[in-house]
Amino acid sequence: MPSPSLPVLDGHHDALTRRTADRLVDGRPDGHFDLPRARRGGVVASFWAVWCSDVELDLDHDRVEEPGGGWALPLAAELPRGAAAAQATQAAGRLLDLERRGALRVARGVADLDAAAAGGPHAAILHLEGAEPLDPGLEALDLWHAAGLRSLGPVWSRPNAFGDGVAFRFPSSPDTGGGLTDAGRRLVRACNARGILVDLSHLTARGFFDVAAVSDAPLVATHAGAHAVAPGSRNLTDDQLDAIAAADGLVGISFVVDFARRDGRNDVDTPLTSLVAHVRHVADRIGVEHVALGSDFDGGDVPRAVGDVAGVPRLLDALRDDGFDADEVERIAWGNWRRVLGATWR
Ligand code: ZN
Repeated sequence: MPSPSLPVLDGHHDALTRRTADRLVDGRPDGHFDLPRARRGGVVASFWAVWCSDVELDLDHDRVEEPGGGWALPLAAELPRGAAAAQATQAAGRLLDLERRGALRVARGVADLDAAAAGGPHAAILHLEGAEPLDPGLEALDLWHAAGLRSLGPVWSRPNAFGDGVAFRFPSSPDTGGGLTDAGRRLVRACNARGILVDLSHLTARGFFDVAAVSDAPLVATHAGAHAVAPGSRNLTDDQLDAIAAADGLVGISFVVDFARRDGRNDVDTPLTSLVAHVRHVADRIGVEHVALGSDFDGGDVPRAVGDVAGVPRLLDALRDDGFDADEVERIAWGNWRRVLGATWR
């Protein structure tokens, strides 16, 4: 039996834009994340991604296998801004409707996180995964901030007006394309000014260091892994980890198996120790205060041993089995996110 659950903050899931997102309160028949299962897993707060697409991407179907066990996906094309804005406002509206019905609270400050940890409603952090819905002049940004936006990734793994996204490849360095545009740099400064977290996940290496050069906030990758453990393009090199530590930021470790495994295979029978290896590497390299969780539930396949958000306590037990003590597990599950969001939202 897993130990009684600690409060957990999960740095990323995609439930809001999934087909059965109308069942998040009562429980979805499929997928990884809904509110009843989050409660069972002790996940009392989480980042709710608003992610836009022009097609239902089938990342497994589109994957090109390469000799020697590697693979690559063709880089997704740029999305038209109007279509992205329409999808994104609809998804954000879906989240605000859940708040109006009392099913959760959209987190606008750390008091909402503290209330969730004390038994209050689930704290939902509104996250824009790719800034396509925003105009390059950023006139829409204050509207989004007023609606509760507290986290934004300038790009998903596709180009947009703000920069290039990292291609999905294994093995590969994260250096797969260009960095931020001038509009991207303005976006980072505008997020800093409003206390919106800038998420480094899905940026190229160049984009990552462009954000690091411009931003005055802690550097955060909400859902990523360690490149030294699994050499895929979405994982962070030790140089990137060092930059995150220098800015008192953190990495939320993703549970998605093909970027978690050393061999890049998409195998749900991947053991929990494969996820623990990423947490361990980041903790050993830059300190346990800079590592947390960012599952990417409903964004990719996760180990059967976790299963869904109700299974998060099993991962916490695997961290204990690896030698993390009670205080360290509490920081990974909750305390590190609480510190970094407090410093970012101001
Ligand atoms: Zn993602």
